[in-house]
Amino acid sequence: MTTKHGTMQDWPLNVWKLIDHAAINHGDREIVSLTCEGHEVRTDWRQVQGRARKVAGALRRLGVQQGDRVATLAWNTHRHVESWYGISGMGAVAHTINPRLFEDQIVYIANHAEDAVLFFDLTFVKLVEKLAPRLETVRHYVLLTDREHMPEETSLTLHCYEDLIAPEDADAPWTEVDENAPSGLCYTSGTTGNPKGVQYSHRANVLHAYGACMGDVLDIRSTTVVFPVVPMYHANSWGVPYAAAAVGAKLVMAGPNFDPPTIAKLIRQESVTLTLAVPTIWLGMLQHLEATGGDLGTLQRVVIGGSAAPRFMIEAFEETYGVDVCHAWGMTEMTPLGTLGSLSAEAMTLPRDQQLDLKCKQGRAIFGVELKLVDDEGRELPRDGVAFGRLLVRGPWIVGSYFKGDGGNILDAEGWFDTGDVATIDPRGYMQITDRSKDVIKSGGEWISSIEIENIAGGCPGVAEAAVIGVAHPKWDERPLLIIVKKEGASVSAADVLGYLEGKIAKWWTPDAVEFVEAIPHTATGKIQKTALRERFAGYTLAA
Ligand code: ADP
Repeated sequence: MTTKHGTMQDWPLNVWKLIDHAAINHGDREIVSLTCEGHEVRTDWRQVQGRARKVAGALRRLGVQQGDRVATLAWNTHRHVESWYGISGMGAVAHTINPRLFEDQIVYIANHAEDAVLFFDLTFVKLVEKLAPRLETVRHYVLLTDREHMPEETSLTLHCYEDLIAPEDADAPWTEVDENAPSGLCYTSGTTGNPKGVQYSHRANVLHAYGACMGDVLDIRSTTVVFPVVPMYHANSWGVPYAAAAVGAKLVMAGPNFDPPTIAKLIRQESVTLTLAVPTIWLGMLQHLEATGGDLGTLQRVVIGGSAAPRFMIEAFEETYGVDVCHAWGMTEMTPLGTLGSLSAEAMTLPRDQQLDLKCKQGRAIFGVELKLVDDEGRELPRDGVAFGRLLVRGPWIVGSYFKGDGGNILDAEGWFDTGDVATIDPRGYMQITDRSKDVIKSGGEWISSIEIENIAGGCPGVAEAAVIGVAHPKWDERPLLIIVKKEGASVSAADVLGYLEGKIAKWWTPDAVEFVEAIPHTATGKIQKTALRERFAGYTLAA
């Protein structure tokens, strides 16, 4: 007899199964967290699971219903991990808000999401006091601290986190929900227009956790000590708190601290083997190590994503500090991982210089993510490493529509999502981002990659940071303008930087002008804010 389906069990992929697995099989494996109170807390998966169940119980007691959004405005700490497992584990949706957004954007996001409860860190008491009158749906404010650290005077009616969860049962069962039910919500930072929400399902998060752990992806295993410097509000810390639970890795979290000395100390003290962050963090770390002569202990791998890592950064980590560097590319809409830059078997046999060329690319597709390049007419482009076009993606952890249907239908007829990135894919399968489509510079009908020029210019002695934007040109429509921040005390001229670029980029890509500025503005997720630079240099005139 033939049957329509296979005859295996239906075991819904719920995120709380990750933490149950960690508690049962890796219960003693540590979670180390710096906190906003200035403490270092050492806990483990068993305790975090029990306390997450208590959070779930407390939320039920507060009247939170399945599908309600419960927001967090919090750094990476053990309490934040407990909260997000607790929220999803009682059927609600963990909405991580980026505290670096403008106040108006936070208000917009919280009201749009209709957040019922807000968990927040001590750092944000003043901010929340200010915002609360404008938050239309928040019924309960929970301060992620203990009785001793509760503020004496505040305009808010507050729950103290430790008091709130204390009476709850650490063994109470989770709420059974469909694997396609929502478990998390994260808004894109919305450099143009209002931020849009991406509502993750339990299933997408669990499949992504399997994907993240794979050897060629983040390679997380029970022996790994993983330190996501990237915050939980930036696309779920790139999925690390789920992936770490799936295998029982030790998890290290830095609380409100992003300064290089604290990060370097934690890496050495906790014998971290894997760490992840955006390039600006690693830039600060390299400068710190250079200045102090420090090392990175047992660190094996640095994963860099969110923006492209310049070649000099990859070289410095690998050659000076003996740490493997790997690009990760993805986005909020992709849970977020899409590609990883680990070397293929063939790439391992290449000369060092060619390996570095590959490491500068964003990497190969993870199983679960399909990639496709198309031109402006939607025709598929060859994977020859030369043709650049719009990068489309498809897969079980890629957004199908934005929260509440914002932006309408965002998939094409074949189900592809346009990432807004412009890229090449080489015959080995390595994808390279050349630009975001809105930042592309079109000169005489041809595209110039602003990212490539930035990354090379960033390696010029005396340059701290570089950005490239297109400015109007009477003959070529647009030409690149290079904007430079000098290293402290350095004297570097326009001619020095342009001379440095010579031979490293195509001649016609050479910027027409160089401007020196005090600082380059960044977005809430650490990217160069090109819109602000374009506004600042609007009307900039170049000679014909
Ligand atoms: P937001 O859009 O909110 O700033 P995301 O993390 O979702 O935050 O941003 C996704 C975008 O970041 C991608 O579409 C891409 O342009 C850029 N990006 C992410 N990782 C990389 C990388 N490794 N190299 C270059 N660009 C990257």
